[in-house]
Amino acid sequence: MTQSVVEAPTATRVALVAPLSGTLLPIEQVPDPVFAEKMVGDGISIDPVSQILLAPCEGEVIQLHPSHHAVTVRTAEGLEVLMHIGLDTVNLRGEGFTPKVKEGDRVQTGDPLIAFDADYIALHAVSLLTQVVITNGDRVAGYFPKAGAVSAVRDIVLELELTHGTVAAPEVEGETLTSGDLIVPNPAGFHARPAAVLTNLAKKYQAKIGLRRGADRANAKSVVALMGMQINRGDTVYLDATGADAAAAIAELSQAIRDGLGEEGATPIAVPPSLSQPEESKPAPRPRSEDPNLVLGVAASPGVAVGYLHRVKSQDIAVDEVGGTPNEEHRKLEQAIAQAQLEVESLRAKVHGQGDPQKAAIFAAHQEILDDPELFEQAGSAIDKGKSAAFAWKQTYTTQAAQLARLDNVLLAERANDVRDVGDRVLRLLTGVTVETITYPEHTILVAEDLTPSDMANLDRDRVVGFATVAGGATSHVAILARSMDIPAIAGAEERMLTVENGTPVILNGSKGRLRLHPSQAEIDQTRQRIQQIVAKREADLAAKDQPAITTDGHRIEVAANIGNLAEAQKSVTLGGEGVGLLRTELVFMERPSPPDQETQARIYGDIATALAGRPLIIRTLDVGGDKPLPYLPMPHEENPFLGERGIRLGFDRPELLRTQLRAVLQAAGQGNVRVMFPMIARLEELRMAKAVLEEERQALGLPAIEVGIMIEIPAAAMMADLFAREVDFFSIGTNDLTQYTLAMDRGHPKLAPMIDALDPSLLRLIDLTVKGASRHGKWVGVCGGMASDPQAVPILVGLGIKELSVSIPTIPSIKAQIRGMSLTACQALAQQAIAAETAAQVRDLSPLSEA
Ligand code: PEP
Ligand code: MG
Repeated sequence: MTQSVVEAPTATRVALVAPLSGTLLPIEQVPDPVFAEKMVGDGISIDPVSQILLAPCEGEVIQLHPSHHAVTVRTAEGLEVLMHIGLDTVNLRGEGFTPKVKEGDRVQTGDPLIAFDADYIALHAVSLLTQVVITNGDRVAGYFPKAGAVSAVRDIVLELELTHGTVAAPEVEGETLTSGDLIVPNPAGFHARPAAVLTNLAKKYQAKIGLRRGADRANAKSVVALMGMQINRGDTVYLDATGADAAAAIAELSQAIRDGLGEEGATPIAVPPSLSQPEESKPAPRPRSEDPNLVLGVAASPGVAVGYLHRVKSQDIAVDEVGGTPNEEHRKLEQAIAQAQLEVESLRAKVHGQGDPQKAAIFAAHQEILDDPELFEQAGSAIDKGKSAAFAWKQTYTTQAAQLARLDNVLLAERANDVRDVGDRVLRLLTGVTVETITYPEHTILVAEDLTPSDMANLDRDRVVGFATVAGGATSHVAILARSMDIPAIAGAEERMLTVENGTPVILNGSKGRLRLHPSQAEIDQTRQRIQQIVAKREADLAAKDQPAITTDGHRIEVAANIGNLAEAQKSVTLGGEGVGLLRTELVFMERPSPPDQETQARIYGDIATALAGRPLIIRTLDVGGDKPLPYLPMPHEENPFLGERGIRLGFDRPELLRTQLRAVLQAAGQGNVRVMFPMIARLEELRMAKAVLEEERQALGLPAIEVGIMIEIPAAAMMADLFAREVDFFSIGTNDLTQYTLAMDRGHPKLAPMIDALDPSLLRLIDLTVKGASRHGKWVGVCGGMASDPQAVPILVGLGIKELSVSIPTIPSIKAQIRGMSLTACQALAQQAIAAETAAQVRDLSPLSEA
């Protein structure tokens, strides 16, 4: 690769005349950070009074945006002058604009470029302010903007002094190849999933790869940039690639796009259909209340809270525009991103250990944002232009977040918050500014424009009893976290709540999506009473936590816990846990930079066994792959990781990992009541192979045998349960995966979430089959998936013959209390009705708790 240096022309001044009549405004004052922070380029803005955009100079039209609201002219000196009519006008999709030129046209100063309907745009867009900016600012040494009123063509708006001396010519990296036209077949365009598939494919190649649609171009290795293009079904796109492997990249990626990037329903189409977004991905109209004391929103996290309103303002971190040398600033940025990656990784490992893969997926998404090459490259190029790392980074991520937030697609728009959250994390590391700690008064109900997943992690749960945000919806990551933290919340709430005085008494109903302002004393009393009843029930359950869970007709169920580490084992015992039905050993592996050795693992498992003081401890062997990657275990790209090398399959592929772990488990077994369990078993051969490995290691160590079980989480294993039961000591049903594989619905899919219900009768039939298969050989069955912690499922599971429920730690006392209040005979009758039901909804309606 060579880099040549060429002589730049001697200093020249170039003048741009007014493309419109109107009043000039400094670019910094444009109410849109993309322009005000000069992300697009430096220049000037005009508040127009005329309606035809004219050429401000002589040149060639090099870009006309498909929505006809923006055009770029290149001058003889090579300056690229972008004119952008209005703000957010891309959303008008061409309505109100009539182009007078096309790309490639040569224009003289004053030639018409775009005619527009100012009345229509003023009514339908944020602003009519029109920006004139230079997109290749590296050629400009000085900007001399004018001020005041200007007349189209007659007055100068901006003078530019071009650079002296030498400039670096672009790097020569080989020929750029382009694909043919590709018509996007995906029903909802390039939303997150197909964008991620394309990105992953592109990352296999060294070549620089771009995806183009008309004049838009995005780095094909950046999910954020691809999503930001808002590619719709029927759009014509093409690829360009530069580099040694460009031809192979173009061939593979073109085919993948034609094939719909692995997405079902992406049937190839010849004629582009309407460009409109599919109805279901558009944001639902926001609820508005007629009652001034009632703020409406979307139910984000159930529960009711009474308290006093407190508004949270987001903290703006000030940054210096100029920093040290580009080398120093690049290094600072790299270090801050690396540190942020460690922080996010440890948050992810922590929540995964808490047994909530949906929560872990939130932080996995944050890791992906930190890995995004587009963010890094954009910030890097601002640093090259002399900006400080903090300034460059802040500009880059705020712009990306603003772009995402503007998208029509509600799922993508909600991810803007994640970009902001991750961006803030890196910015704090760069500036040393720590999170402001505010001591809220007791019974605080927070209202905010938006909160981030990190804000949630720092929330003082003793004082904050609920929150409402203007942004977000029920599928936002903040809502998921609120539900798992058991804090009532509403999202998408009316903005006027932000003007309500701090300290105003309010009632927040997270189940109904309502915030009542100034409630009457009677309403407050009534609500408090209801909350107190719930609290009293919780306290009674807690007081009885150590009593066994025996049904009224004398049948005992073991209530154990799902845990990820020693602290959780200890916590489970304090809440009345009768053992550990699932130790997810992933956490032991995830929170380290390399695999833990045998001694380390034996110590960890041994400590947990000791803490359980004789109670059973089921250690599940490593279940990574799927949605749980290990940073130090590079996995080849898989089209369908949930159907790929996860769980025991990976153990067979990396036998040294499995053997080391089994030796550690056998070693720890001396310290308590230890059993081992294999995940993701589908075939008898796999069980036999896993058991053979265990036996080999046991004999080599000369230690006694331990009980062996398997997860029943693949339908094949449930259906063959009678055969598996001959060869194991117990089964534990992983309903999270069993549901996903039975219904063929991704367990983390936000749109499918309402349909992926473990109470689906199909699941109940598989559980029934498993219990029957096990009892034929005198073996017991437990459930360790999320279903075991669902109060509506508990009587049905007991009725189906489940002997052990391994639940999330906080639910131990209430599940035990629930079992003590029911009879096995009633549960059996309920289970028979449930298994005969047609739908999950019908099953839920059978439950005595369905009104709760
Ligand atoms: C399950 O699949 O239900 C289970 C308990 O395992 P995990 O959630 O760790 O996949
Ligand atoms: Mg599982």
